[in-house]
Amino acid sequence: MTDRCESRGVVVGRLAPSPTGALHLGNARTFLLGWLSVRARGGLLTCRIEDLDGPRIKQGAADQALEDLAWLGLDWDGEVTCQSARLSRYQAALDHLVQRELAYPCVCTRSEIERAQSAPQDVLDHGTRYPGTCDGKFDSAEAAKSATGRDPAWRFRVQPGEIVFDDSLHGSLHIDVAADAGDFVVAKKDGQPAYQLAVVIDDADFEVTEVLRGDDLLSSTPRQILLYRALGLQAPAWAHVPLIVGPDGRRLAKRHGDTRLASLRDEGVDPQAIVGYLAWTAGLLDAPRALPVAALLDGFDLSRVVTEQTVFDSDEFLRMM
Ligand code: GLU
Repeated sequence: MTDRCESRGVVVGRLAPSPTGALHLGNARTFLLGWLSVRARGGLLTCRIEDLDGPRIKQGAADQALEDLAWLGLDWDGEVTCQSARLSRYQAALDHLVQRELAYPCVCTRSEIERAQSAPQDVLDHGTRYPGTCDGKFDSAEAAKSATGRDPAWRFRVQPGEIVFDDSLHGSLHIDVAADAGDFVVAKKDGQPAYQLAVVIDDADFEVTEVLRGDDLLSSTPRQILLYRALGLQAPAWAHVPLIVGPDGRRLAKRHGDTRLASLRDEGVDPQAIVGYLAWTAGLLDAPRALPVAALLDGFDLSRVVTEQTVFDSDEFLRMM
């Protein structure tokens, strides 16, 4: 993917698993939809492993995720990249933000930020709003460290006002990052880039034209748009798909039964039956039936994908396998 794909009119998507645990039916449905959306238009897919989440990374989970995706029939183009191999690239982007005074060092701890909330409405569903305590306090990371004895993180300075963007499923969205989240972290105190920065640099470097992901990441999108603008990069199109949740309304997890693809494979479940089940729950089939992913390409249209969460019913799922 060395040419400017977008300028050639080629759709480029990405599969971006985090090796923090095994892929389950919920992750699988998002990857299936991301694959379909791109392949149905003859586009290209990059695959990258988002392995920057230090202690949460599980040994062997990256290889397992790739095996699981391939088992379902999902493929990608080119080499798989790992974020951990691209640290200098993220550092260069951070340096650019710092030089232009768009980011500043911050030594606040999470509990200090929580204590600084002036009103309960400051704490929105996507977390705590940063009140700007360290903005303008330190000239450099070294100054922050020598004044406080703490290694600083770096926060991106958010200007007030709404960010407006289009989402293929949700239409036009207006989100005020300054009011909701405030200045957000772009590099952590251990020196690692934060998710928001790494994802923007990767998607831009790999010329991704469509980001399709779970709608739990919707509140990240306007932050990422701010970074695209600050770094002079071209933002992709956005599609946020609903999650599969357990009967308790929480995102699918172990407590809802073992829905890991690796376990289903070990039990001898047919991957095409899983594909059919996922497509049916996403609104792409009237009834579940086993079929290869390629059979879903013809006439695939993101606008047919449900916008409501799917509540997982394990008895129903098992009956269909
Ligand atoms: N790595 C994230 C996940 O597995 C996806 C991040 C993104 O799509 O921006 O949920």
